[in-house]
Amino acid sequence: MATAEARLLLGAPIASEIRDSVRHDIEIFVARHGFAPSLGIVLVGRDAPSAVYLRQILRACEAAGIGGRLVEIEGDDADGSAVEPRVTAAIRELNDDPEVAGIIVQMPLPPTVRLRAVIDTIDPAKDIDGIHPLNAGLLRLGFEGFLPATAHAAIEILNRYQVQLAGREAVVVGRSNVVGMPAAFMLVRNDATVTVCHSKTRELAGHVARAEILVVAAGRPGLITGDMLRPGVVVVDVGINVVAGGLVGDVDFESARQVAAAITPVPGGVGPVTNAILLTHLVRAANAQASQRAPEENR
Ligand code: NAP
Repeated sequence: MATAEARLLLGAPIASEIRDSVRHDIEIFVARHGFAPSLGIVLVGRDAPSAVYLRQILRACEAAGIGGRLVEIEGDDADGSAVEPRVTAAIRELNDDPEVAGIIVQMPLPPTVRLRAVIDTIDPAKDIDGIHPLNAGLLRLGFEGFLPATAHAAIEILNRYQVQLAGREAVVVGRSNVVGMPAAFMLVRNDATVTVCHSKTRELAGHVARAEILVVAAGRPGLITGDMLRPGVVVVDVGINVVAGGLVGDVDFESARQVAAAITPVPGGVGPVTNAILLTHLVRAANAQASQRAPEENR
């Protein structure tokens, strides 16, 4: 008997709806405060996939009426020792700029720049990608803070397509601080039962086979194939891998769609929603900062 192909969980319609509401929120912000908030982006070194992502974010900002401040820092000094102070100085300058509402730092950082020094420097109130330890801690404790945009986008897609999470068996492949772990915490908060797999997991296939919800963020093209999946699983493929034929995810799309009930395509799934979600975080940050300043301005 032929199996029906999986429903496509497309990111574009969700992203477009979110961007429309961001544009509206920005118009209200500008009318109220007389300036458009900006996104500060610190780019360290040259990394092709990051540069593509960055251009998309800047385009999305412009279309929504949000300003963009791009600070490019050379990441290839002879010994690299000058790079970290330049990165932290650039972040401090953005922290102090009242028109900059949100800051993102392109990852991965060059090996000479300590992640801890960078994340500690970002003002948590402007940390719209949720990498500061305060925001990571708030997520862990179940309080409201800024969520990492990609993990937030993965869960937003599940929510918008009304995929039931409560009580279901969820498996996350990947345990990074920006995708895997925050996605796992969010799934737990949505009452799923969660298993987190990583590169040292024995019998990855055995865990994946139990998943009713599968979130894959490993950065390994074709890691998950259709024969590993439980029929009817809902798959969110966060992976973005540049291969000879273009961009692919971590899930072998053609075999997976024969078994899954629903699946996000790559490209066109999580990516566009991530950018749109980031803009909603910026709006929230801008409004929170404006209301903090308001009492002083009115004095
Ligand atoms: P990362 O920091 O490299 O983390 C990858 C994770 O996958 C690690 O936890 C690693 O395990 C695990 N892993 C690697 N190989 C594995 C294997 N064979 N079996 C099981 N687990 C394995 O990457 P990331 O930043 O989380 O990003 C993950 C993917 O998402 C990448 O493809 C990236 O390009 C993509 N991404 C997409 C978006 C978007 O908007 N769609 C945004 C950000 C990232 P260990 O911890 O043991 O090393």
